[in-house]
Amino acid sequence: MERGDSLTRVVILGSTGSIGQSGLSVIDHDGGARLKSWGLSAHSRWRVLAAQAVKQLPRFVTLTDPALAALVERELRGTGIQVLAGEDGLIRMVQDPETDRVLSAIVGAVGLRGTWAALEAGKTVALANKETMVVAGPLVMDLARSRGAQILPVDSEHSAIFQALKAGARQDVRRVILTSSGGPFRGRTRKELVNVTPEDALKHPTWQMGPKISIDSATLMNKALEVIEARWLFNLEPDQIEVVIHPESVVHSMVEFVDGSVIAQISPPDMRLPIQYALTYPERAPAPCRRLDLGQSFSLHFEPPDRETFASLDIGFEVMKRGGTAGAVLNAANEAAVSRFLKGEIGFLDISRVCRAVLDHHTFDPRPTLDALWNVDARARREVDRWIP
Ligand code: NAD
Ligand code: MG
Repeated sequence: MERGDSLTRVVILGSTGSIGQSGLSVIDHDGGARLKSWGLSAHSRWRVLAAQAVKQLPRFVTLTDPALAALVERELRGTGIQVLAGEDGLIRMVQDPETDRVLSAIVGAVGLRGTWAALEAGKTVALANKETMVVAGPLVMDLARSRGAQILPVDSEHSAIFQALKAGARQDVRRVILTSSGGPFRGRTRKELVNVTPEDALKHPTWQMGPKISIDSATLMNKALEVIEARWLFNLEPDQIEVVIHPESVVHSMVEFVDGSVIAQISPPDMRLPIQYALTYPERAPAPCRRLDLGQSFSLHFEPPDRETFASLDIGFEVMKRGGTAGAVLNAANEAAVSRFLKGEIGFLDISRVCRAVLDHHTFDPRPTLDALWNVDARARREVDRWIP
């Protein structure tokens, strides 16, 4: 399409969330050099969305609920911004002929819908929503291939791996090593975790994130989901993926090649860097956040994960090996369990316990369709909701 500028038009799905707001901060920092916000979406925080739209002047905004969309429409009268609603609104924004990249930053399996629509239209997707890959990795990768669409990782570990992979040939990769901060409960025993509260679990030592991923980081389910995400995103064999605990969150992940060389990507923990890289790739733009200060002395630590205390990790490895419906079941069970934990209905250790129970009960299908995946997703949520600790 003929356009008066060479700006990359970016749609942010979930612009009111932690990643969404960091995405907007990257666009602000860019100052109109490369990026332009083209569409924004929110679930319920309509005032925040309206304020973002007034500042960014995108072409579109979308709210899940039409009643909230009507409120935003009133706020944006006269701006020329088109206000849309529901899934149709998301699809309209991501498939707009002028949309160049979609930052997929809605939380949960529901984020798969917008990601799917973007890939169907051949758009480049900057993927923060890891649940997309956990639920439907092989189908999503097939779709991207068939539409010639690119998926660029935003998750810091996968961005690091994506960057490190460029150091050698694909057939010379021995393994990838994902780093994990260990979360707020690193070093604790299971006994010490029986009575932890949502408030304790939400306090992450190195990252500021939305509530769901913060709880996932405390259980290490986040790393479990990332192991599955890495398998499909980089087309790895199950035995090529490992996890190491690295409390400082400076080494974001590593790739080991056959000759024993290990290539890492390192920077202070700040999501603006991987978000910007996914929005400007293959170009690199000036740092949107603090740089690593090598003038100060500092140490980096690595240790093996405690797989007994953090049972989610082994569940993730097992699901990553199985593929099929296992990822969708684990993801849905975990979403439902986290939501019950946040409401005080189940304990912290119950999260991995109920995920294990639901996984063990489900009828495994090695080659599910997308519809089949949505069915097992719904069933797993119902089972968790009925589960009595
Ligand atoms: P968040 O809770 O801060 O924000 C979620 C966003 O999704 C909000 O804009 C909300 O309006 C929208 N949303 C929620 N439910 C919705 C629904 N049903 N329909 C439509 N929109 C809905 O979450 P976050 O921490 O920004 O995480 C977003 C995604 O990015 C997650 O998949 C997470 O795993 C991933 N991620 C986050 C970080 C991080 O640092 N926060 C890092 C890596 C990956
Ligand atoms: Mg991550």
